[in-house]
Amino acid sequence: MAVERTLAILKPDCVRKNLQGEVLARIQKAGFKVLGMRQLRLTQQTAGAFYAVHKGRPFYDELVGFMSSGPCVPIALERENAVGEFRNLIGATDPKEAADGTIRKLFADSKGENIVHGSDSVENGKIEVGFFFSGAELV
Ligand code: UDP
Ligand code: MG
Repeated sequence: MAVERTLAILKPDCVRKNLQGEVLARIQKAGFKVLGMRQLRLTQQTAGAFYAVHKGRPFYDELVGFMSSGPCVPIALERENAVGEFRNLIGATDPKEAADGTIRKLFADSKGENIVHGSDSVENGKIEVGFFFSGAELV
């Protein structure tokens, strides 16, 4: 199994609930190494660009509105099999369908406001880490 990178984003609902530390602790306990981390507020335009793959879906406008509604915390992570392991840690998109003990099951209110983003493939992990961090910011 290969060492991979994946992008997490602690979404605006996570920040509003002051759960950044709680969620990051779970990520770290699961063996992920933090390569880069910052707090910022996405504009509607940058949120739309990040989720461009979902453009045209019925939830797209709501998603862009939510992701630009307050500060979020992108985190570049590294681990063996990082992409799959992180998806396991966060659980299904809809917290009602997420497995017990997953971050979304524990903390998310809805399918839209679901606390945390995780990349869905190794290729997208690289692209998404690059969306928020320059090479020099990954240490
Ligand atoms: N989303 C939503 N309604 C849906 C599907 C997705 O509001 O029916 C939102 C939700 O915040 C989700 C994000 O859009 O995390 C991206 O959707 P995706 O299917 O990629 O889910 P994820 O990879 O985040 O589990
Ligand atoms: Mg996705």
